[in-house]
Amino acid sequence: MSKSLRLSEKWFRRGLWLVALVFASFLIGLGGTIVGDLPKVESRLELDAFLERPQAQQLRAQLLAEQAAADAAQAALEQAQLQRDKARSEVQSQRESFTNWLAARSVTQRAEHDPEVLARTRALDALQAAELVQRRAVQAQQQAALDARQSAVQTEKQIAQMEDAARTLMYAELRRVELRVFLYRLALTLPLLLVAGWLFVKKRQSTYWPFVWGFIFFALFGFFVELVPYLPSYGGYVRYVVGIGVTALVGRYAILALNRYLERQKMAEALPDQERRKELSYDVALARLAKNVCPGCERPVDLKDGKTDFCPHCGIGLFDHCGACSTRKSAFAKFCHACGSSAKAERGV
Ligand SMILES: [Zn+2]
Ligand SMILES: [Zn+2]
Repeated sequence: MSKSLRLSEKWFRRGLWLVALVFASFLIGLGGTIVGDLPKVESRLELDAFLERPQAQQLRAQLLAEQAAADAAQAALEQAQLQRDKARSEVQSQRESFTNWLAARSVTQRAEHDPEVLARTRALDALQAAELVQRRAVQAQQQAALDARQSAVQTEKQIAQMEDAARTLMYAELRRVELRVFLYRLALTLPLLLVAGWLFVKKRQSTYWPFVWGFIFFALFGFFVELVPYLPSYGGYVRYVVGIGVTALVGRYAILALNRYLERQKMAEALPDQERRKELSYDVALARLAKNVCPGCERPVDLKDGKTDFCPHCGIGLFDHCGACSTRKSAFAKFCHACGSSAKAERGV
């Protein structure tokens, strides 16, 4: 870019590059704010929205009722177990005391027909019958608790199945939302990239080039950096494919430019010395001489040995002699450095 040797112009150019960067950073800030606000377009997804509402509500109510029933059955079972334990210990203590009493009196009397023995035996039977009733009550409660628990488990399974199906639907919808958000962003950033490409080809050397380059930086940043956090799993493909495309275009452009340059250079080297000199701008020639390269063919030449008057590669005149004072001077200088006479006047151009 910097072909000038004038000091102020150099600094102006650097300042303009700064303008390009600052312009790009503000554009990036603005673009980032807009892109960041985009996801609010989509509402949050909830699992319930994908369930069959009435059926799910009914199942959930059923589950609650079954859980309550299981709790109640468990409480009743504990009560029944307590009652059974009481009856059992009653029977045991009565049986022991009856056995002891029998043992004490059987030595002297026959037991079979004694009315007192019969009465005590009947009382013990009644106690045992009461214990049996309590045992049955416990078993009934155990059955009820088990039934309630099992049907609750069954209902839970049904609900889990429904939720699994709903989750599958929700993930599919999530992927669709993700794709939509990504496409919004792509629709925003891809045209910017295309505009940037057009600006690069057509306008990069216009008077307003700092803004053109600022915009190009912004578009590249927007597409290759800002888009990244919003990429779905396959978004990488889009990014890399576009990246490959852009690189291929820029590369092709550079190769064609190189070929054009070489072609031009070849044609220029075929022209006579005076013609070639006219085509070279003064500043370009000075810049190349300062780098010890031939201003005509850009190959390295030794300018300091005091003898080389012509480029050994392309034959362009590098040094000549002043028409007024015959001092050896640069052939590209506009005035003789020794006597100040104009080189043009002397050459008659
Ligand atoms: Zn040369
Ligand atoms: Zn002179």
